Amino acid sequence: MRYRGREVDVEGRVRLVMESALTARDRVGVQDFVLLENYNSEAAFIENLRRRFRENLIYTYIGSVLVSVNPYKELEIYSKQQMERYRGVSFYEISPHIYAVSDNTYRAMRTERKDQCILISGESGAGKTEASKKILLYYAVTCPANDHMAALGDRLLQSNPVLEAFGNAKTLRNDNSSRFGKYMDVQFDFRGAPVGGHILNYLLEKSRVVHQNHGERNFHIFYQLLDGGDDDLLNTLGLDRNPQNYNYLVKGNCPRVSSISDKNNWKVVMKALSVIGFTEAEVQKLLNVIASVLHLGNAQFGEGEEGETYITTETQIANLLGVDGSALTEALTHKKLTAKGEEMISPLSFEQAMSARDALAKAVYGRTFTWLVEKLNQSLALRDEIHHSSKGGSVIGLLDIYGFEVLQHNSFEQFCINYCNEKLQQLFIELTLRSEQEEYETEGIAWETVQYFDNKIICDLIEEKHKGIISILDEECLRPGEACDISFLEKLEDRLGGHPHFVTHKLANGKTRRVMSREEFRLLHYAGEVNYNVNGFLDKNNDSLSRNLKEVMCQSENQILSYCFRREEVIDQKRSEMAASQFKNSLMKLMEILMSKEPSYVRCIKPNDAKQPGKFDEVLVRHQVKYLGLMENLRVRRAGFAYRRRFEAFLQRYKPLCPETWPNWHGRLVDGVSTLVNHLGYKPEEYKLGRSKIFIRFPKTLFTTEDMLEA
Ligand code: ATP
Ligand code: MG
Repeated sequence: MRYRGREVDVEGRVRLVMESALTARDRVGVQDFVLLENYNSEAAFIENLRRRFRENLIYTYIGSVLVSVNPYKELEIYSKQQMERYRGVSFYEISPHIYAVSDNTYRAMRTERKDQCILISGESGAGKTEASKKILLYYAVTCPANDHMAALGDRLLQSNPVLEAFGNAKTLRNDNSSRFGKYMDVQFDFRGAPVGGHILNYLLEKSRVVHQNHGERNFHIFYQLLDGGDDDLLNTLGLDRNPQNYNYLVKGNCPRVSSISDKNNWKVVMKALSVIGFTEAEVQKLLNVIASVLHLGNAQFGEGEEGETYITTETQIANLLGVDGSALTEALTHKKLTAKGEEMISPLSFEQAMSARDALAKAVYGRTFTWLVEKLNQSLALRDEIHHSSKGGSVIGLLDIYGFEVLQHNSFEQFCINYCNEKLQQLFIELTLRSEQEEYETEGIAWETVQYFDNKIICDLIEEKHKGIISILDEECLRPGEACDISFLEKLEDRLGGHPHFVTHKLANGKTRRVMSREEFRLLHYAGEVNYNVNGFLDKNNDSLSRNLKEVMCQSENQILSYCFRREEVIDQKRSEMAASQFKNSLMKLMEILMSKEPSYVRCIKPNDAKQPGKFDEVLVRHQVKYLGLMENLRVRRAGFAYRRRFEAFLQRYKPLCPETWPNWHGRLVDGVSTLVNHLGYKPEEYKLGRSKIFIRFPKTLFTTEDMLEA
């Protein structure tokens, strides 16, 4: 076996790197699209993905961007030995892997002392969450441990099953679909040991608590509790085991999922909660809340003789929520108004009472989820005793956020999710272009820009102050009693009709577009067209709970709930921010966080809609390649120079090919490289020498040189 050379790893140890790191199988197709001869051809791109996928080679690069195709089966490529293979080894020397991205990001953080982030994107079911878990596992296993926080790695890993139990659900697209966005910082100390973590969560899809589409489920935790909780526990909570007995669990008609063991997962979650540091009492309170939601769904409402609404089964709910029973009943069936300084109470209609009940269930669940994330953060937080040692440390952020979503029926949730994806695409455009451009600048190399579709126009359409869809939605929400979903749509038509990315059933000539319903607007997203039905937009944006329900809840004896429902909220009559605006602002903050870090990308692709291994649906893949902007990504990468390598690395690798550089070059590095490429016969148009790197325009040049090395 030939040794390629020596490499100095982050700890300063010199190690030998094996030449045989790449096997013949790893070489199926090209492992970096940049090496694709026909780089303008989408067909060639997809063929390369397919050939590699067939050999279970699910990872391929575009330069330093990792493209990953979901294998839908367990591959033997995530072991500890595999992790070792990737430690300290650079991208090009070994087959593409999520561990290579993890390791390179880690090393960049260590050597450049700059915060990093890994942005994982792709549609629902493409493998984002799995990728983020693998990255976290890589750090937990391979990074040195901090003496004070030996267990931090465990807690980081255990946060996942908890978040997934409460924030993931079975959907048509993914049996374990994340229904919230997650950004997680992992903090490292100056020696590179993980010492802390912090999670930011984004917009949980709360509507799922009270309604599921056919074939979908509510959040996993409900089924886990019913299947896994022991008899005593279920007795205390007044629950029976059959999910079909609960109104909030029957809508999707999908109580069991073959790929999911609710019973086992229940154990995993309970264990995780204890590792993270939840006390038994806290777990009990948490389960009380979960059970209360199920009971709320089953609350019986009736209509009295005078048309008043009453509720019959409130005692258990009130007990679980830790609130006064009669106050709860009153708040669920009446509304309180203040007119001319006087309080008036009026009964709710049957429908109104049902929707107050649903609003309460959503608020209770959603706020408890946020509480849970805060608890996780407390457990992952940097401890004071090690604060000093973390000085000079850096951060790696992981973003795993819901992918672009087009359903049969798209509502407010899809609108928010797809808006989020527009923002991420915008960031991707800005950062890939910018970093490419910056690299040429710092290296002093001239280049020409590649044209891209810039999705700023769509972001503006959605988020622009006073003019965008979100502003108009907020405006309508501020006209209670007068505005409705349809008046919102009309306003959109008025103000945005004619925008190139906005369409409704109304045609410019006054006629109507028959294929669109009168309740829809269509956005031409960068990733494709989506029709949004405006039904429920105002309500979901308002996301309000009546004042009397808030009053009842903030007096809860359950500390989780009294923490979630603050008294100030009742006293302070000021309107709180509406859901879409709040989401917009949290996304703005997220963009700032990401912009301040050095990004790496993982672009996940879903090979088929059947969740099956071995199936490669070309149409589906082509669509994703298109909207993930992979061809453009490749073109930018190629327009400049396909390959770049630091002078040291280049010399080290190819010096055996030239008598003047072998065995060692003693002059300036740039002269050594220059001597070497002259000897190899590189033509001037084939390469450029920057300040610290050689840039090679065509992959072929590098191939030829590689072949000479092999000969
Ligand atoms: P969503 O946006 O719905 O949350 P996602 O992109 O996070 O989707 P995942 O939950 O990561 O998708 O993946 C869906 C399923 O695909 C996983 O539950 C798992 O069965 C399978 N899967 C994904 N990645 C891998 C992998 N690398 N190896 C094996 N199976 C995988
Ligand atoms: Mg996910």
